Amino acid sequence: MGLSVFIDGEYLDEKDAKISVFDHGLLYGDGIFEGIRVYGKRVFMLEKHLDRLYNGAKVLRLDIPGSREELKENILETVRINDIEDGYIRLIVTRGVGDLGLSPTKCGRSSIIIIAATIKIYPDEVYEKGLKVVTVSTRRNLPHSLDPQIKSLNYLNHIMAHWEAHHYGADEGLVLNNLGFVAECIVDNIFIVENGRLLTPPTAMGALKGITRDVVIDIAEREGMEVSEKILTLVDCYIADECFLTGTAAEVAPITHIDERPVGDGSPGPVTKKLMQVFKELTKTTGVPV
Ligand code: PMP
Repeated sequence: MGLSVFIDGEYLDEKDAKISVFDHGLLYGDGIFEGIRVYGKRVFMLEKHLDRLYNGAKVLRLDIPGSREELKENILETVRINDIEDGYIRLIVTRGVGDLGLSPTKCGRSSIIIIAATIKIYPDEVYEKGLKVVTVSTRRNLPHSLDPQIKSLNYLNHIMAHWEAHHYGADEGLVLNNLGFVAECIVDNIFIVENGRLLTPPTAMGALKGITRDVVIDIAEREGMEVSEKILTLVDCYIADECFLTGTAAEVAPITHIDERPVGDGSPGPVTKKLMQVFKELTKTTGVPV
């Protein structure tokens, strides 16, 4: 028996967990998703992830079948059934089955898929030594084309950026927007520390409003730091005292080199380390019990 995957009300063994080839999630990337962490049998920031999912659905005029409470229960049950203590949930809503044309109005009911598994993005030493990042040539999607605030099933922009960063031997990619300002990392938000201030690009620069980003901003403010959203250039990042990325899967990870330039002294700085530590503590004490 493999993992038990939730699809539209049923829990199926992973080998039987299949969707139609006519689902517009597959045919057109028409759908949305969330990646959610489980720490110590508690689902971290579940309500925030659901808020983002429902906001994305509203923008795309995508109907999420059933109630929010039912969806929550299905998420928790998928974690329970798979006996996940520390893991990662992938929640997907696709437009559903349509014909070969584009029209979403010809699609039937949207499909809900929930996978609960484990994940490891970077090896442990990355969190001690830091990430080597390169700027990629693929620019983030324009907000007036496909707004990066929508966590849509169309992640080709991110996949091209990932391919490029890894082709050049980097751990991660730094992604700019069409104007050349810093947007975010490939699937993570970016922060710099400059003279004791924590700075991150506004989401309008082409960043997802990351849930880990919001958590880190809250933590930093509670720790008495000054935090601002600021338009950042690559040079701001090169000459920053510290730099790190945030994301559900990657958590808080130091960036110590950007385009072959050491950030600060080229090792994780004290602010980054402190935020990593407080973030870790928070993951142990909060979350919706499974
Ligand atoms: N940016 C992008 C493009 C993402 O896909 C993600 C999610 N992996 C993030 C940032 C980080 O968001 P979160 O902290 O909500 O996971």
